[in-house]
Amino acid sequence: MLKRLLKSLKRGEINPIATQVPVTASAVTISRDEHTISRKQISKNALNVMYELTRAGYQAYLVGGGVRDLLLGLSPKDFDVATDATPEQVKQHFRRARIVGRRFRIVHVRFGREIIEVTTFRGSHDQTDDSKINRNDKTQVNDQGMLLRDNVYGSLHDDAMRRDFTINALYYSINGFTVLDHTNGMQDLADKKIRIIGDAGQRYAEDPVRMLRAIRFQAKFDFSLETATAKPIAQLAPLLKQISAPRLFDEVLKLFLSGTGKKTYQLMDDYGLFAPLFPATGKLLSDQNEASEHFHSLILSALENTDLRVKQDKPVTPAFLYAALLWPRVLVISEQYQQQGEARFRALQLAGHQAVDEQMPVIAIPKRFSIPMREIWTLQHRLETAHGKRAIGVLQHPRFRAAYDFLLLREQSSQQAEPRGPFWTELQIQHPINKDHTESDRPRRRRRSRKPRPKGPRDSATKD
Ligand code: ATP
Ligand code: MG
Repeated sequence: MLKRLLKSLKRGEINPIATQVPVTASAVTISRDEHTISRKQISKNALNVMYELTRAGYQAYLVGGGVRDLLLGLSPKDFDVATDATPEQVKQHFRRARIVGRRFRIVHVRFGREIIEVTTFRGSHDQTDDSKINRNDKTQVNDQGMLLRDNVYGSLHDDAMRRDFTINALYYSINGFTVLDHTNGMQDLADKKIRIIGDAGQRYAEDPVRMLRAIRFQAKFDFSLETATAKPIAQLAPLLKQISAPRLFDEVLKLFLSGTGKKTYQLMDDYGLFAPLFPATGKLLSDQNEASEHFHSLILSALENTDLRVKQDKPVTPAFLYAALLWPRVLVISEQYQQQGEARFRALQLAGHQAVDEQMPVIAIPKRFSIPMREIWTLQHRLETAHGKRAIGVLQHPRFRAAYDFLLLREQSSQQAEPRGPFWTELQIQHPINKDHTESDRPRRRRRSRKPRPKGPRDSATKD
């Protein structure tokens, strides 16, 4: 299926609509009085990085989400700087700078808790001028057109053309405080349009994560996907299988834990982007039956709940989210074990392990989340059956609150005839525990650590 898809992509059968991004070497300059960005809204550290690089004779611009969000009147979550200095040259100018990433080598400049990401202008791949190529670490493309390495450097214009969407390719300059627009991104911002730069099919094949980013921005800003940008997604969605499991873990968190998870999920479902990420759940959801309706509604409720917590500035945990996303499969496997004679608690334990093991090749869920997930699942049995002193004991479990919230979601989505939620709600009033589920998800303190903790995927640079 994937091979056929890629062949048709090479033959140009997919995405016949030509892109509307003009390929011109000149940028439109938007002067200070024609845009709304003020220096006061920009992180002092990002400004420092730009001033320092400029002083050293390099070009430096604010780019990406920072510029986009400021133009939209939102406060950016981070600031990225683009420069013509190489990563090594950038590093020389800052005390706490580190080169990270393999696929894209970028520099993290740290100021206390804030990290400013500095990227060197990226070039196009057919560039023949070898002097611009970092020979040790240049471009590598696999058979399917996916970029394995992308460390060819180029001009500001090349860099603009290598970015994903026009609204993400606007550059703010501290020289004159202008905005430079190479791709008509200002107009797309005004029209609330997400438009990919270049040929959509090719850009998705180079990096399939761009499809997820398109959907994420669509949901986050309530924008629409321009026709050519949207067209190939449903067909190319299976390409997501090529993305490394640690990178997908990070991307999924951005998709579902940013405050518009429910809408993002619905869009992913529409574009066929959910099933490649969650194959087992996706298969069960596609069965047109009562169970699949309940699963669907459970996932929607979990995301609605998460969105609300994000809006209220409450902490959210990947463990709860993944517990909901994988529950359909856990339930199916546990029922099979029960049919083979296992007790329900044990069946849930076994099913929890199996469901996580099946998911891991696609999305690498770190142990610090998969362990609490499995506890949430096995506790469902206790919550369905415990009474009296045993029930009071269950209240003390560090994962009780998360498991209780999960039970409420399950019962709500399956319209349980005799729900157990009210029993536990009442019991907590009689025996207050004063914790919410994210607090209880914090790892328990270990007295003594024998070995250093292995580096988990969240700890490593995942801009691979
Ligand atoms: P967010 O608000 O999520 O941070 P962002 O657009 O800033 O959104 P980042 O991941 O911080 O996202 O990336 C910074 C910029 O780098 C983007 O705006 C875009 O210009 C470029 N970029 C990021 N990922 C890709 C990609 N996969 N392909 C091409 N360009 C990318
Ligand atoms: Mg960003």
